Amino acid sequence: MKQYDVVIIGFGKGGKTLASFLGKRGKKIAVVEKSKKMYGGTCINVACIPTKYLIHEAKKLQSRKNQEWGEKAKAYASVMARKKEFIDKLRLGSFKKVNQPEVVEVIDGFASFVDEHTLSVEQENGMIQLKAETIIINTGATPVLPDIAGIKNNPVVYTSDTLLNEERLPKTLSIIGGGYISLEFASMYADFGSKVCIFDRGDTFLPKEDENVAKVVREALEKKGIEIYLQAQSKKVEGDQLVIEFTNENSEKIFQSDAILLATGRKPYTEGLQLDKAGVKTGERQEIVVNHQLRTSTPHVFAIGDVKGGPQFTYVSLDDYRIVADQLTGGKEYDKEKRGHLPYSVFIDPPLSRIGLTEKEAKEKSLNFDLFTLAAADIPRAKLIGETEGMLQVIVEKDSDKILGAALFCAESYEIINLIKYNMDTKDTYYTLKNQIYTHPSMSESLNYLFDELV
Ligand SMILES: Cc1cc2nc3c(=O)[nH]c(=O)nc-3n(C[C@H](O)[C@H](O)[C@H](O)COP(=O)(O)OP(=O)(O)OC[C@H]3O[C@@H](n4cnc5c(N)ncnc54)[C@H](O)[C@@H]3O)c2cc1C
Repeated sequence: MKQYDVVIIGFGKGGKTLASFLGKRGKKIAVVEKSKKMYGGTCINVACIPTKYLIHEAKKLQSRKNQEWGEKAKAYASVMARKKEFIDKLRLGSFKKVNQPEVVEVIDGFASFVDEHTLSVEQENGMIQLKAETIIINTGATPVLPDIAGIKNNPVVYTSDTLLNEERLPKTLSIIGGGYISLEFASMYADFGSKVCIFDRGDTFLPKEDENVAKVVREALEKKGIEIYLQAQSKKVEGDQLVIEFTNENSEKIFQSDAILLATGRKPYTEGLQLDKAGVKTGERQEIVVNHQLRTSTPHVFAIGDVKGGPQFTYVSLDDYRIVADQLTGGKEYDKEKRGHLPYSVFIDPPLSRIGLTEKEAKEKSLNFDLFTLAAADIPRAKLIGETEGMLQVIVEKDSDKILGAALFCAESYEIINLIKYNMDTKDTYYTLKNQIYTHPSMSESLNYLFDELV
């Protein structure tokens, strides 16, 4: 039986970074990955990178929206082929970077626990066993499949993983679920030329966002021709017919769909790990329960990334690596409690980026705050690149002058939000952002103007 200092189950962002980090420090490491198509993890193969590549390419095709369908379908197929080439290269690059003979070994196969220190790996040609002092679980998440009759083995029904490999552009795309992944696919496919409908069973569009923010986002999506239906419960799928019950009006309608995307969330992937054999506990959603150092109920077994529950982002998985690296080789000082504010961006058009409290939440907490807003149309760079749609709003606590939260719905908001994060994490006041010298003309200089516009 092979013996390692650390075995990492799953080739995710945190795991691969940790493997290289520990390998360079003389530890003997193995990374076990169940699929050769997933070297590098979810992000580079079926999530962040391919979606943002396609979103970027789809936007370039917007100007051709009056083209014949055949031309649009051809352009889409060509983008998909280029995306595949790009992702194949990234995957290979990731494998080569991590797999360092004598230091870090990538082992193909499905890992499961035999006991607290032993893993069994099911491979094409049989089973092997590995022993390790420390084990890291980095197995990610998997799509939640809703309980809707007719979705199983239906060739028009996709998850985000499978739609990303579809070379045929659907004329009609129905998306079940109205969350952030749904909106990104909706915006992208509308730009490619599909007719997109979103069906959400809730009664509020983007319920976590402020109403005024949700309203402008909805308007921008509708401007692309996307139809958004709320209180729309998906009942069944018959061939390419999606049956929707409108719960507010007790009626049913049928939507013909060349493709139906299930965008109903992702759950921690712990299936088949046999966690009980190692005494590793899970919670209600099958997430692995961890403490602030990311140790599971079995202290030498850690869980990082999506599998431990909580916000599902690549940069959270990366930050989890920092925590475990510090536990294994550092001063054991950095942990989850010390993590700063967590921003996020939804890569629609324009992108929506958020951090901290919404105005609604600030009111619920009875905080004394000012709301600063700016129309994207007032930013010089937005005018020159012709992307004047959107708005920015920042909530500032009156007594301390500290930023409590921000919603930026404008071009390049995914960059500006990181400046706000830094300001919030360093517990600085908003004056630093307001009076900063920014390059001109840039989207970040919007922060010079934003704080003049008090609502
Ligand atoms: C469509 C989509 C778009 C997204 N866009 C963004 C974005 O723009 N920005 C962002 O930050 N996040 C985004 N995310 C979320 C992000 O992709 C995830 O949070 C991140 O990839 C999780 O990484 P991880 O480290 O948890 O593990 P993963 O990267 O998910 O890796 C887990 C690996 O474990 C392997 N595995 C599982 N079980 C076993 C086993 N028993 N044995 C061996 N191997 C196993 C899997 O095959 C997989 O390769 C997106 C997600 C989706 C679905």
